[in-house]
Amino acid sequence: MTDEIVKQFPLLQRQQDGKRLVYLDSAATTQRPQTVLDAVRDFYEQNNANPHRGVYALGERATAAYEDARTEVASFLNAPREEVIFTRNATETLNLIAYSWGLQNLKAGDKVAVTILEHHSNLIPWQQVCRATGAQLIFLYTGPDGLLSDREIEQKITKEVKLVAFTHVSNVLGMVTPVEKITARAHEVGALCVLDCAQSAPHLRLDVAKLGVDFLAFSGHKLYAPLGIGVLWGRKELLEAMPPFLTGGDMIESVREQDATWAPLPEKFEAGTQNAGGAVGLAAAIRWMQGIGFDTIARREQVVYRYAWQALSHVPHVKLYGTPSGEHAGAIAFNVEGAHPHDVASILDADAVCVRAGHHCAQPLLHHLGMTACCRASFAVYNTCADVDALVESLQKVRKWLGYGA
Ligand code: PMP
Repeated sequence: MTDEIVKQFPLLQRQQDGKRLVYLDSAATTQRPQTVLDAVRDFYEQNNANPHRGVYALGERATAAYEDARTEVASFLNAPREEVIFTRNATETLNLIAYSWGLQNLKAGDKVAVTILEHHSNLIPWQQVCRATGAQLIFLYTGPDGLLSDREIEQKITKEVKLVAFTHVSNVLGMVTPVEKITARAHEVGALCVLDCAQSAPHLRLDVAKLGVDFLAFSGHKLYAPLGIGVLWGRKELLEAMPPFLTGGDMIESVREQDATWAPLPEKFEAGTQNAGGAVGLAAAIRWMQGIGFDTIARREQVVYRYAWQALSHVPHVKLYGTPSGEHAGAIAFNVEGAHPHDVASILDADAVCVRAGHHCAQPLLHHLGMTACCRASFAVYNTCADVDALVESLQKVRKWLGYGA
């Protein structure tokens, strides 16, 4: 089974300086299986035209390919088609929600709540919109273990809070947030919930009927799809009441010299030429994941995650962040005592082991945890315990390379 999956990824067959490539940076972006690469290529070879424009047969095929991809995403999320909007990535989706919903609905005296775990993409748009509207941005803090307590949720989400924007899975710690508790509390006080699924979409089943949130965002490239395609899902009545975020071609109903009216959902939020090739690739990636099965994906990833936590916690001078208790998906953050994370990542790279080092676009979280940078090993369905072994073996060399005795 393992080899069957790994074999489908052309890039994972490559070697780096004669060494097997060990890719442990899937939280940044995953690799793509052949079937996704083929689907994108097939679109450009067989069906490429500007979607929603041409009335000729080729144009209609392009439109059909794009709209079929929307149907695939809708079924992936268990949502109606018109609630699925294609964007460039999770960042654009979160900006769309912040500017379109936020500027219209927030005012002085209101609060927007985020968690300290947020990626900058689910933080800076809210900073900007709060600044523009006079609303206050507040934080739900984790303990040093990265866990959000019930008390924090109860105490911070009060009736002044109009919206809670939070990540489903921390891109640094890989820990799953308590979605049910947060949404229950938010709805109790009449607040809306935005769920950043950039890190959960590749690992967890996303069913909007069950998640109970009001908006959701993810990027295709973190779940085996091409770069440049992302998704916004939102409840229809909210999306209908929101003004467009970007304006221009294809999002209008009619245009006069001084004003315009908007197309119905989903086109209202899809100004300009759409990334149909990306959408087709995303649909292919979803079909590929469904072919393996979400339960199988989760089971395989849990085995590798648990093995990695155990193995890394036994490497001398390695400090792990977060806690293995609770639900996890895909990432482990660590530092090597006495070594800058960039040096660690460069030394691992000499063994063709790819990990990310830095602030991971989560500077407030790192500050909260008392550090400025760390390394992150992150996993996808193609990773195996052998990849973890390679990481551990390479990590054991780091301090020696840097001149420490042991
Ligand atoms: N949120 C989280 C939790 C992420 O990990 C990322 C990407 N690292 C993003 C948002 C933004 O994704 P993108 O760069 O694809 O827009």
